Amino acid sequence: MFNQVRGFARVSSKVGETVRRSIQKKGISPQKFHNFLILDFEATCDANGSTYPLQEIIEFPVVKLNAETFNMEDRFHQYVCPHERPQLSAFCTNLTGIIQDMVDGQPKFTDTMDLFDNWLKEQNLLCPDDGSKSHLNWTLVTCGDWDIATLLKRQAAHHSYSVPWYFNNWINLKIAFSEAMGYYPNSMKIMLSDLNITHQGRHHSGIDDVINMCSIMKSLAETGYVFRTTSKLADGPTGSSPLKGPKFGSALV
Ligand code: AMP
Ligand code: MG
Ligand code: MG
Repeated sequence: MFNQVRGFARVSSKVGETVRRSIQKKGISPQKFHNFLILDFEATCDANGSTYPLQEIIEFPVVKLNAETFNMEDRFHQYVCPHERPQLSAFCTNLTGIIQDMVDGQPKFTDTMDLFDNWLKEQNLLCPDDGSKSHLNWTLVTCGDWDIATLLKRQAAHHSYSVPWYFNNWINLKIAFSEAMGYYPNSMKIMLSDLNITHQGRHHSGIDDVINMCSIMKSLAETGYVFRTTSKLADGPTGSSPLKGPKFGSALV
């Protein structure tokens, strides 16, 4: 009953490629995880893409997705006050929609990491006593590897903060898409368009990007795709190491 043709997808992501194949909806297969935590950081930036001395997280949105129904169950959403460059650039505000008032007075990086850890405990995703893995199997999902492998890793190193163990592995949504659809998507917009999903909200708003990523997850799951961990945190100060797939500096272009 899920076998209807729902849309069309590119056969290849080569520049100028227009050949498409139909998307087969086979129904959701049992997944290896109980939950997916969809994450998309927004960070300080300027027209060159980065802000000296480092890019800092200013929006930390996570949506908890049920891995059986692919419905959104809960969310963690925190704006973050940057340490090094507390004044947002006009470029950053124009790109992300995050105005100065939204970060002023908000928790800083390490306090936000603690708030996220507390939320994971409230959700029974971590053992409340010692923060170890709970009985639930879950993983983070990001669009690209930049959020964790570059941004989080660099900022944590800057603050001599140990990245919690649950950031060691994650699913790169672009790699998942490439496994499910047979070609690598260069952007979130291509994934949405090729899956016939209407873009929700504002591009580069972290929480809106996460909601769009949730729709992509559900649509890929409906093809029968079973998600697997694709990426891990490399050793070293700022390294990025997707297990496979092209490298990219930023995520959702
Ligand atoms: P995204 O998840 O694609 O919305 O972007 C994450 C972060 O990457 C943004 O908050 C910016 O810090 C940076 N970024 C994304 N696109 C650009 C761009 N065109 N120019 C400069 N920085 C960008
Ligand atoms: Mg974003
Ligand atoms: Mg992103």
